[in-house]
Amino acid sequence: MPGRLAIDDDHFRDRCGLFGIFGHPEAGRLTYLGLYAQQHRGQESAGIVAAEGNKLHVEKGMGLVNDVFDEHRLEALPGDRAMGHVRYSTAGDTVAANAQPILIECHRGPIALGHNGNLVNAAKLRNELEAAGSIFQSTSDTEVILHLYARSHREKLEDAIAASLSKVMGAFSLLFLTPDALVAARDPWGFRPLCIGKLEGAYIVASETCALDLIDAEYVRDVEPGELVVIDREGLRSFRPFPPEPVRQCVFEHVYFARPDSIVFGRNVLATRAAMGRQLARESPADADIVVPVPDSGMGAALGYAEESGLPFAWGLIRNHYVGRTFIEPRQSIRSFGVKIKLNPVRSVLEGKRVVLIDDSIVRGTTSRKIVGMVREGGAREVHLRISSPPTMGPCYYGIDTPTREELIASNHTVEQIREWVGADSLSYLSQDGLLAAVGDEAGQRHCTACFSGRYPVAVSQADPQLALFAK
Ligand code: SF4
Repeated sequence: MPGRLAIDDDHFRDRCGLFGIFGHPEAGRLTYLGLYAQQHRGQESAGIVAAEGNKLHVEKGMGLVNDVFDEHRLEALPGDRAMGHVRYSTAGDTVAANAQPILIECHRGPIALGHNGNLVNAAKLRNELEAAGSIFQSTSDTEVILHLYARSHREKLEDAIAASLSKVMGAFSLLFLTPDALVAARDPWGFRPLCIGKLEGAYIVASETCALDLIDAEYVRDVEPGELVVIDREGLRSFRPFPPEPVRQCVFEHVYFARPDSIVFGRNVLATRAAMGRQLARESPADADIVVPVPDSGMGAALGYAEESGLPFAWGLIRNHYVGRTFIEPRQSIRSFGVKIKLNPVRSVLEGKRVVLIDDSIVRGTTSRKIVGMVREGGAREVHLRISSPPTMGPCYYGIDTPTREELIASNHTVEQIREWVGADSLSYLSQDGLLAAVGDEAGQRHCTACFSGRYPVAVSQADPQLALFAK
């Protein structure tokens, strides 16, 4: 029987995007636009909290930013400071209670919180807090931070927030909003991005700079790893409340998650992806006629590969940009329908050609197999698959939705076995050293590569065994 199927998109997924603004008369609407620009960081819920006087107003719901917010809801977000959140989750935790920002009232007054990242000791902390009488509204690890904050006896806002964050372990880029201040914090490893911008005297904090571009704001700098920033009527103040750790920014932000037009960790993402492609061409050349990207994920690397190899770049696959996350399947089976609804091969480009097919990663291998088959059906004589990151061998504990280790094809298959499974004539991945060189970190001293290398910056032994219980 036909039914509703999820779009077949085999990628790691970032779970959240953040945007906050302090001191602009259109704060609520600009936050809406800031979330809109960052929709790629989360498509299952969206929320905005705005402050007016001593009150915080919240509007949030399930769906895309444009589905959740209409004129009526934006009217209900008055005031000159606001912050918002877009969220992605796995199917089991797609519930409204987990939508962010989370807004609470405590003895300190109202406070809202949005989180990008994942805490590795959240279940342990939650058990302790529940034993001490705390009642949780959601299954989100983020709520733990608010309970810790509410229990802090520190007088100043920044001290109470710092005290609560000193108890959590793992990845956090955070935005807090109170009636008086917007507070941003980034964990000492700096796993997830967070940047500061300015517009007409108002300060902005966002996950990615593409949100600043949309509203004509100026990019000022990143919130540094381990930094806590308070923005209020006095301006911007910076604190360093956490013990320093080696910086470990998520290299996958550059490989796939971030929008190509963003500056992430100080580097333009598209230029970095092109550098990955050039490095890939040097490491793994192919005797071929054309370079074809898997759109959109392989675009940047394919540009670099074509440039370095001297082979022509060609649009051999065309993407339908207007598909949603699910579709109703036909009554009669159509081969690889799930991929076909998104991608279509261009026979006039592929016919008789030896194709270098570029993508950014292989997760389970199911989609890669269908796309290689599609390129062959489109007439390609040979398909040489080139991947602009190393084999993904392990899950992420730091805010990325990943399958289990067993589901990751590279964790239990050799490159040759994967080549055979996906049906390519040859298959090569970018090396770890090559990836680090492409992000300008030859020594590997500023990036997390744990899902490739198994070197987890916050040791897995410290990771909470109940981590899987938590949704973000
Ligand atoms: Fe990024 Fe992978 Fe590290 Fe997770 S494990 S933070 S996805 S590099």
